[in-house]
Amino acid sequence: MRQKYSAFRLFREGLRGHKGWKPAWRDAEPKDRYDAVIIGGGGHGMATAYYLASEHGMTNIAVVEKGWIGGGNAGRNTTIIRSNYLFDESAAIYEHALKLWEGLDRKLNFNIMMSHRGVLNLAHDDGEARMLKRRVEANRLNGIDSEYLDAKQVKEFCPPIDISPDARFPIIGATLQRRGGVNRHDAVVWAYARAASALGVDIIQNCEVTDIKTEAGAVTGIETTRGTIRTPRVASVTAGHTSVIARMAGVRLPIESHPLQALVSEPIKPVMPCVTMSNAVHAYCSQSDKGELVIGAGIDAYLSYTQRGGMDTIEHQISALLCMFPQFSRLRMLRQWGGIVDVCPDASPIITKTPVKGFYINGGWGTGGWKATPGSGHVFADLVANDEPNEIAAPFTMERFYSGALVAEHGAAAVAH
Ligand SMILES: Cc1cc2nc3c(=O)[nH]c(=O)nc-3n(C[C@H](O)[C@H](O)[C@H](O)COP(=O)(O)OP(=O)(O)OC[C@H]3O[C@@H](n4cnc5c(N)ncnc54)[C@H](O)[C@@H]3O)c2cc1C
Repeated sequence: MRQKYSAFRLFREGLRGHKGWKPAWRDAEPKDRYDAVIIGGGGHGMATAYYLASEHGMTNIAVVEKGWIGGGNAGRNTTIIRSNYLFDESAAIYEHALKLWEGLDRKLNFNIMMSHRGVLNLAHDDGEARMLKRRVEANRLNGIDSEYLDAKQVKEFCPPIDISPDARFPIIGATLQRRGGVNRHDAVVWAYARAASALGVDIIQNCEVTDIKTEAGAVTGIETTRGTIRTPRVASVTAGHTSVIARMAGVRLPIESHPLQALVSEPIKPVMPCVTMSNAVHAYCSQSDKGELVIGAGIDAYLSYTQRGGMDTIEHQISALLCMFPQFSRLRMLRQWGGIVDVCPDASPIITKTPVKGFYINGGWGTGGWKATPGSGHVFADLVANDEPNEIAAPFTMERFYSGALVAEHGAAAVAH
């Protein structure tokens, strides 16, 4: 049974030294056989498990995670959420996710600290302004809230920003998605884990998948560092290692894996009311509830599986930020980290069944998959349960790399996110 969280419970536990809380999910031992196994205990994997159990009645399933749940990109990202992508296919999946974010805390009875504080995408020249205005119109046609602000309105919405005309990269306007924002990454993973575990899903940590077993072109199980598990369905949700897992089943993907870094400043009083992103200077920034500025940029140029990244990228990131916010120049940086992101040629994800029966892949979200977490899990669960992608997932199968029907989102995928 899932324990309920409420203000009363919090108050009572506060008086009792917080000794009455039970673990939020079961740390399960692997069983010999499951109806489906999800590889990867990030946000997407946990969401997939939850929706498989809650909407498709598949409860004899497991999530296997090589480290601890939420220790991958889920725990490393800067949590920017928006749905203002250019093409209809992307708009549909990211808006599906945004609608699920709205109300997810109530559905899962867990405070995911969702903050719809608004996301600004800045324009620094006429060409960029034209492109952003086109995106606003495309968004509106898809029913997505989106507006264009001039420089004065940008300043009103985000007071610390420098809009002076003699700035290195003058700001002449921006798009604003008011429903966009940020949330708390750990809380999202824990919320899904808790809800999935309560429905019977086994969450198996410290269990690395080392091979995928097939017979006559169909999945029969997986080899892990904690033994063999038999299963007819394997669903990979392993951002950063999608192609590594795919190769275990003999599937090749057009994915490149790059480090992506972020860093935070020392905490300061609330100064940034929104998320600000600039493609041209290549930096973005928001402020966490603890007061730290959360700063990110683009990917490191080289391919790598190390969760670090180079100093030159951070240097560029900071100098780009200071073009927009010169007053941050005296802040000290507190910590830096990196994750590995799987990037597809068209900057769109892969949600697909494969030539190997029972082997499904959800990956290639690149630098911007956090915002899709609930939507991605929702449509992927549908694919795994029904063996066919639904209307939202259909444009993102791997067939598009043969047919040429790419969903080329490099522009709206923006500065990394
Ligand atoms: C620095 C940074 C900033 C970002 N900022 C944003 C942002 O602001 N907004 C946004 O939308 N997106 C952002 N992203 C991208 C986003 O984090 C990812 O797209 C998203 O989290 C991917 O979700 P996931 O659950 O698939 O990944 P993960 O959380 O990485 O989950 C995959 C899991 O698979 C596990 N795994 C891998 N191999 C194996 C194996 N062999 N056996 C078992 N388990 C395995 C890993 O340990 C990992 O826990 C950012 C990414 C980074 C790195």
